Amino acid sequence: MVKSRLDSRQLLTRLRDTLAEDGDGQQRLDHITQLVAAGVGVEVCSIYLRRDRQTLELCATEGLKQESVHVTRLRYGEGLVGRVAKEASPVNADDATTEKGFRYMPETGEEMYSSFLGVPIQRLGEVLGVLVIQSKVQRKYSDDDVYALEVVAMVIAEMKELGAFVGDGEAMTAPHQRPIMFTGASAQEGAARGNVLLHDPQIVITNPVADDPEEEKKRLNDAMDSLRISVNDMLSATKKDSDDEQLEVMEAYRMFANSKGWRTRMEASIDSGLAAEVAVEKEQSATRARMARVPDPYLRERLHDLDDLSNRLLRILTGQGRSAGDPLPENPVLVARNIGPGELLEYGKDLRGIVLEQGSVGSHAAIIARAWAIPMIIHADNITREALNGDAILVDGDQGLAHLRPDDIVASAFNDKIAMANQAQERFSAIRDKPALTKDGIKIDLMMNAGLLADLPSIDSSGAEGVGLFRTELQFLVRSEMPKRTDLSRQYTRVFDGAKGKPVTFRTLDIGSDKVVPFLKPEDEPNPALGWRAIRISLDKPGIMRMQLEAILRASKGRPVNIMFPFVAQFSEFIDAKAMLDKTIENELRLGHTIPSDIKVGAMLETPSLAFAPNQFFEMADFISIGGNDLKQFFFAADRENERVRRRYDTLNVSFLTFIELITQRCDEFNTPVSFCGEDAGRPLEAMCFAAMGLRTLSMRPASIGPVKDRLMSVNLADAKIAIDEARLSGDQSVRDRIRKWYSEQR
Ligand code: PEP
Ligand code: MG
Repeated sequence: MVKSRLDSRQLLTRLRDTLAEDGDGQQRLDHITQLVAAGVGVEVCSIYLRRDRQTLELCATEGLKQESVHVTRLRYGEGLVGRVAKEASPVNADDATTEKGFRYMPETGEEMYSSFLGVPIQRLGEVLGVLVIQSKVQRKYSDDDVYALEVVAMVIAEMKELGAFVGDGEAMTAPHQRPIMFTGASAQEGAARGNVLLHDPQIVITNPVADDPEEEKKRLNDAMDSLRISVNDMLSATKKDSDDEQLEVMEAYRMFANSKGWRTRMEASIDSGLAAEVAVEKEQSATRARMARVPDPYLRERLHDLDDLSNRLLRILTGQGRSAGDPLPENPVLVARNIGPGELLEYGKDLRGIVLEQGSVGSHAAIIARAWAIPMIIHADNITREALNGDAILVDGDQGLAHLRPDDIVASAFNDKIAMANQAQERFSAIRDKPALTKDGIKIDLMMNAGLLADLPSIDSSGAEGVGLFRTELQFLVRSEMPKRTDLSRQYTRVFDGAKGKPVTFRTLDIGSDKVVPFLKPEDEPNPALGWRAIRISLDKPGIMRMQLEAILRASKGRPVNIMFPFVAQFSEFIDAKAMLDKTIENELRLGHTIPSDIKVGAMLETPSLAFAPNQFFEMADFISIGGNDLKQFFFAADRENERVRRRYDTLNVSFLTFIELITQRCDEFNTPVSFCGEDAGRPLEAMCFAAMGLRTLSMRPASIGPVKDRLMSVNLADAKIAIDEARLSGDQSVRDRIRKWYSEQR
């Protein structure tokens, strides 16, 4: 195989010459397989290319039977070649026949070859095909060999004619005409109308091979210097008008721009013969393949920062793509696979909407979008393949929908929706400062859920009566290291200040399950939602919670506070957590610190078990908050993150509603205030039914407060309860249909 970097460079130079020769694409592919087989000293070299999203086709081979070319096909994931494509990573086997997933394809005559090395041919993280070498002798290829073959695959990926072979290549580049709707998830509510602004650079690389590696390294280093300067500038600009969370994010970003490892890996690729741009792309492809594999959302975000920096570096190196200062299209709606905080900050607040294929509600981009109140959709699969710059697009941030190139009917329905939303908004604004009083005079307290400093200004705009749930873990999730007590205390003081005297309920750290904190080693658990999470971690490893409790107490500066423990499944956990708080209060007093004038201590009821806790629990708790998101998933044994089962069980299911009623009755028996803070509290019909079941406090996203208040003010709760009771007797599984009908008849 390739003995030294020099060999690999020679091979690349020959490849480059082949690519420059006259001849059609097939001839070039054939020539490449011959060159690679000879250059690396193996009997077989084959190129498989993607026919469609599921199939690979053998398009050229040196060593296998020529009759099988354009005949042999494999599905993604099928055989070793399919595995390389599916996992976007190499398979290196000294005896292919014993390798997991091996599939013998008789028409190729490959039975005599033992060793197999396959690497993905990919461009900008998209797998276009697989490059394979095989030989008769059993041998495991070295890491250098794998690397060298990956470098060759990078050059093949840059071949201009590849599009003609990659089955859906044409479809990928042809301007699409048809209207198409994307169903994603909402990361920020609101509606927007505008034109697509594609974020990922569409960069053309003319010469993938380095003639002079020293010169290429100099180009790379110069570009990295410019990158660092621009990131530093961005950081200074951010410092002026951003909060701590944005700064954290930007610091992590700067760390990557200065990463030695990143530079060293790219220089090694240049030494192997690649041009600087292709070296950047090679790293970028590896990063994207890792992104698709890592389950840890925080790590994915970090990898995305690196992806974002690679895009910038490519723009600097090639001088192509949009650069800072270029004018934006009219009403720009940013469309991207994902976006890092740096690039989003650079686009600025002029964006009308953001639509991403990936991302998450807690992502850095979402934090900024929320701070700017820009409607944002995540998980809009494949939109970057379908959208073209300038296409008309409608963003429905409430439903998590994007309509690309909408037809007239959709566009006019959307306009109606915006007009209605504006009208409704006017109605909600008019009642913003009024209490949520039902027609029969029952007052429901409407609070808001928050988790970041950026959420707090909504307390005024929504008319929330306080923060019913402050999810403290969000601030941990965006950090790269454990916060110090003084940092936390400073942030919590800003939460108290932002609440302007309205009550705030801090929930202690609710980590574990899907909320993986970057600086704590994740547990490898078979069933994380049922695993070591929330209060279970805090009680077993009390250090963080103690520090957090101190930070909350000090941040209060004497103001009253509510503290709530998440995921309490049995009374003894509440006793232990409360004892920890009592001890912390005692310590604070001994140290001479001011403590809050009033401290109420509550528990989240998120497992059915707590509803049946001993009476003493209800006596001891100052308040209880029903975490409906978790409670529902455990009540129905249906994972809240699993789309297949999530919607299968209705919140207004008779069983669940009756269970909520039982909880309120137990709380009432002991005069323990009870609220509901899961997502369902923000849905008007559900909120009305919860109130009818006896709940008097609901906590929800700020944007939901107006619609919920509007609904509550329009009903007689006693009548609603009668209607629900009748519906419960009807035998229907859910009361939804009957209650919806009843409500519409009331109006
Ligand atoms: C809940 O489970 O309903 C809740 C409010 O907590 P989280 O969504 O943060 O788990
Ligand atoms: Mg929960």
